[in-house]
Amino acid sequence: MSSFNFDVITLFPKAFELINNLGVISRALDKNLFNLNLYDLREYGEGSYRKVDDKPYGGGAGMVLKPGPIYKAHESINKFPKSKTLLMTPQGKVLKQNDLVRWSTLDQIIIICGQYEGFDERVRCLADEEISIGDYVLSGGEIPAISIINALTRLLPGTLGDPDSLVNESHNSPLLEYPQYTRPQVFRDMKVPDVLTNGNHKDIEIWRKEQQLKRTNKRRKDLMQSD
Ligand code: SAH
Repeated sequence: MSSFNFDVITLFPKAFELINNLGVISRALDKNLFNLNLYDLREYGEGSYRKVDDKPYGGGAGMVLKPGPIYKAHESINKFPKSKTLLMTPQGKVLKQNDLVRWSTLDQIIIICGQYEGFDERVRCLADEEISIGDYVLSGGEIPAISIINALTRLLPGTLGDPDSLVNESHNSPLLEYPQYTRPQVFRDMKVPDVLTNGNHKDIEIWRKEQQLKRTNKRRKDLMQSD
């Protein structure tokens, strides 16, 4: 089985050390289910100061990442036949589980992380898709990139001990997952619903489906209407 390849262009490669401390994700890396290659943007910087950013034309707050170093870093990456480049930006399409499922059959995802006030507009030409992880603004694209790596790795065969974990999960269907309980049966006066301890699998299945519908209707009606 060939590994999935993540290639990430970032000014802060150290941020990705988190991947080595994420339980099943770190184990998937140890098992070579995926490769992670980091491209330190500073190494592609210009001049003796390895400059990667500059003031925006027309004025305005903060610094903008220059296009040159990002293009150079992107060109230095060995591209696989089924490869996509994702640009992290709060202006992108908001990430959905469907996107991860769609990408999980590729060989490679290249991720470009912005920083500061963002990047020169011409960087957008490198992207197959522009992705946001939600309607809020972070200081850099590293946390969005780690979120994508983490969520996509869970979908790769061999990462989760039991692949059935993926089946009923929230966002895998338009319904949220049903409530889950583990021991003890009574905890601080809160009792596990009888149906789960009666051992009738048919009843359990019906109860879980009902709970999924109720819960989604109450918390995320929008999911039942959207794509
Ligand atoms: N001024 C920019 C935001 C810059 S935030 C704008 O208004 O669009 C700095 C960088 O952090 C971005 O270039 C992007 O790479 C990353 N980032 C911030 N929030 C993000 C989000 N919600 N999703 C994905 N990337 C984000």
